[in-house]
Amino acid sequence: MEKAYWSAKARALRPYTAGEQPREKLIKLNTNENAYPPSPRVTAAVAEAAADLRLYPPSDGGIFREAAAQLHGLDTTQIFCANGSDEVLAQAFLALFDPDRPVYTLDVTYSFYPVWADLFGLELRTVPLDKDYAVMPGSFAGAGAVVLTNPNAPTGMAARPGLLREIIEGTDGPVIIDEAYAGFGSHSALPWVGEYDNLLVVRTLSKSYSLAGLRAAYAAGQPHLITALETIRNSYNSYPVDRLAAAGAAAALRDEAWHKECCGRIMKTRDRTRQALIDLGHRVLPSEANFLFVECTDPDAASMFQALRDRGILVRYFGSGRTRNFLRVTIGTDDDMDAFIKAMEHIS
Ligand SMILES: *Cc1c(COP(=O)(O)O)cnc(C)c1O
Repeated sequence: MEKAYWSAKARALRPYTAGEQPREKLIKLNTNENAYPPSPRVTAAVAEAAADLRLYPPSDGGIFREAAAQLHGLDTTQIFCANGSDEVLAQAFLALFDPDRPVYTLDVTYSFYPVWADLFGLELRTVPLDKDYAVMPGSFAGAGAVVLTNPNAPTGMAARPGLLREIIEGTDGPVIIDEAYAGFGSHSALPWVGEYDNLLVVRTLSKSYSLAGLRAAYAAGQPHLITALETIRNSYNSYPVDRLAAAGAAAALRDEAWHKECCGRIMKTRDRTRQALIDLGHRVLPSEANFLFVECTDPDAASMFQALRDRGILVRYFGSGRTRNFLRVTIGTDDDMDAFIKAMEHIS
C-alpha cells in the first residue's frame, strides 16, 4: 500500500542522502557550511527586498545575475542563476547531457551525480583517481561529456590548470565543472568560459559566501549554453530565485573584502588542523576546500565517527567504497577545531 500510488519512476529512485541537520547542540562539522556569518550587507539587502514580496521576482535572478556577471567581468548573457547549485547542476544535466552519450566523472566524487543520472536516464561512467586520490592525466581521454568537481568532494583535492585544460580540450561535448568550493585556494576554470564553447562552470554561495540557508548559485558559460539552461528552467519553474535570495546573493557577491577575509581565516585554520592531525599519525589529503578528508585506521572511521559524536562533535562518514576508512571534517572556527583535535587525541 505504501507506494501503491507512486509512479514507476519514484518507486525506482534511490535519492541522495544529505548530511544530518541535528536538533541538539553539537559542534557541527558535517555539511561544509561556513564557520563565519555572511557579510552584514546581506541581512540589510534581504530586509529591504522583503518590502516587494507581493511581486514575482525576475525569472533570471535580476540583480543577482548582474552582480555575478560584474564580479567575473562577463556579460549577463553568460550567467544562469538558480536556487542553489544542486538545482543549477540538475538543470545543466538536463540541458546538456544525452542518454546516448555517456557522462564521465570521477570514482570518488559528489554523490548527487549518480542520482541525477538515474532520474534523467543518463549513463554515468566513472574514471578512477590514483592511489593518492589525484586525477590521473589522460584519464578522461575520449570522453564525450564530463562532470567534474574541482576541488573534488569529499577529498578536497584540486586539479592543476594544465590538467583542467587537458580535460576541457579533450572532450568533444560539454564539460561541467562544479566549483562548489572555489574561494579556498584552488585554481578556477571560470575565467576560461570565453575561450571554450563547451565549458560550463557552476558556483554556489553556500560554502565560501556563508549562505547555505539562502539557496543561491549560478553557472557561467557562453550564451549558447546559458540559453539551454534557461530553456529547461522555463519548462519547469520560471522563478527559481526568490526576491530575498536575489538581493542577499547580490549583496554578498558585491562584498568581496568580507568574502576574502573569511576564506583566508578558514584556509589558515584548515592548514594548521591538517598539520595537527598529521602529527597525530593520521593520513590527511591535501585540501583546497573548507574541509579535510581524514583516514582513520585505529580505531576505524565508523568507530571514530561514533566516538566523536559521543563527545558532541558531528563529522561526515560515508562508509562505503574506496574511502570507507575516511571521515570528512568541515573546517569550523578555531575553537571548534581545537575541540576536534583534542577529541581526536583522546580517541586515538
Ligand atoms: C555543497 C555542494 C553542492 C550543493 O550546493 P548548494 O548550492 O547548496 O545546492 C554542489 N556540489 C558540491 C560538490 C557540493 O559540495
